[in-house]
Amino acid sequence: MASYYYELKRGHIGTDVRRLQNFLIDQGIDLQFGADGDFGPATRSAVKEFQQTQGLPTNGVFASEEAAVAVGLGYRNTCFQEPIPRTPFEIQDALKFPKKPANLQRPTQRISDELFGEFRFRYTPTPSSPQRIEILDGWVADSIVTAPVSQLVNMVDRQSSTPRLMTSGEIRCHRLAAPRIQALFAAWEAAGLSDRVLYYVGCFNPRLKRGTTNPSRSNLSNHSWGSAFDINSQENWIGRPDAVIGARGCLRELVRIANEEGFYWGGHFGNKDGMHFEIAEL
Ligand SMILES: [Zn+2]
Repeated sequence: MASYYYELKRGHIGTDVRRLQNFLIDQGIDLQFGADGDFGPATRSAVKEFQQTQGLPTNGVFASEEAAVAVGLGYRNTCFQEPIPRTPFEIQDALKFPKKPANLQRPTQRISDELFGEFRFRYTPTPSSPQRIEILDGWVADSIVTAPVSQLVNMVDRQSSTPRLMTSGEIRCHRLAAPRIQALFAAWEAAGLSDRVLYYVGCFNPRLKRGTTNPSRSNLSNHSWGSAFDINSQENWIGRPDAVIGARGCLRELVRIANEEGFYWGGHFGNKDGMHFEIAEL
């Protein structure tokens, strides 16, 4: 039997879940909320139904055995097609952490001011958004645009607690960042790596860095300029090790191309932020 990457189960969210849901629907299995990319109780029931039909143990987890049967029925989900590297050398190579880029410096607030324009702000925390700021003087109207990213059409957006599909693929970002972000996603797609992005977690977001409450300029998050975006946050959370190759949500394969496109990866910060990519030069 072929070897497959990871299992899909309750709590997972992303494009890989959508592909599974679409497959289950094609199998004639009723899915209450359709292919919404959110593996909840309805998807678990649908997987159980599939398992029952196929004579597999009905635990509601879509793993290697289920994938092997499904592939025979036309299931295509890239993350399930590639075997886990087997030899020690291949494992070593695949688990390698991306090298820090030689061509880029981590963007500081001063650099972001220079690249994207300085703004005045006031600190406006709320209980649910303790880092929130308000940017003053019309800077947002002058600087922030809504831009379509074709690779994000129907991507799962996980910015709020209720995930939704990005039907138009539009993001809010700095007007100078828009063409760069579009170019980056196009470069990832050209390299066949689009499916590494499981879900989107946002770009422009005026706020201080997570965990800070002192409204100094050095505590501004670069999301405030709309020059940084986050993806696959659950699997690459701040301060935790990022997902390794072969694990669900791994972003390591995207880093080299991101660096070539002028983006710095948060996994290279002192306090690792593996979900985060930001423009370091224009
Ligand atoms: Zn971020």
